[in-house]
Amino acid sequence: MMTDSVLRDRFFKKYHGQEIENCIQCGMCSGSCPLAPHMDFGPRQLFAMAREGDMNEVLHANTIWLCVSCYNCVVKCPRGISITDHMYSLKKMATEVGIKPPKMLHLYRSFNAPVEKNGRLTDVMAMAGYGLRHPGAAMANVPLGLKMLSRKRLELKPASVKNIDGFQRVLKKAKELERVS
Ligand code: SF4
Ligand code: SF4
Repeated sequence: MMTDSVLRDRFFKKYHGQEIENCIQCGMCSGSCPLAPHMDFGPRQLFAMAREGDMNEVLHANTIWLCVSCYNCVVKCPRGISITDHMYSLKKMATEVGIKPPKMLHLYRSFNAPVEKNGRLTDVMAMAGYGLRHPGAAMANVPLGLKMLSRKRLELKPASVKNIDGFQRVLKKAKELERVS
């Protein structure tokens, strides 16, 4: 396991993480993040920890895996910090040092399996996949699902991209390249 100071150095120098020194801890990022309630630490707290050098804890947090790159936080940040990019960098660093996202695997697979099969993901596909793996969590979201359904905000039909064979060939090649990089 790498020490906190080596990891902090790597984050700041190799991944341009030194930008988080400009963070004023206003909390606009965490306040606007749709996933913050499910994160171990919101982006504000994660950056505070990284600045303090608690890098092993940062890299083990589910925060970096839950980030869906929606850019809400970036739009709101008064210091123009590339929060989403840092989330991505931290995820890359975690992978590099062999930290896996165990708690997130179900969510990841629920997202990934339909995308690999159809090239697209609908809310229903993701919810069904996750519900099969986590019935408790799925039940908690039933009221929200029904509300979305009543407002016609859920796409019920499974959807696929037009050239699914081509898409799957691209995916296969990307995986090969990932293995050798
Ligand atoms: S919005 Fe920007 S400045 Fe405010 S806590 Fe988040 S990263 Fe820091
Ligand atoms: S980009 Fe990531 S951290 Fe920022 S608001 Fe969206 S999910 Fe949250």
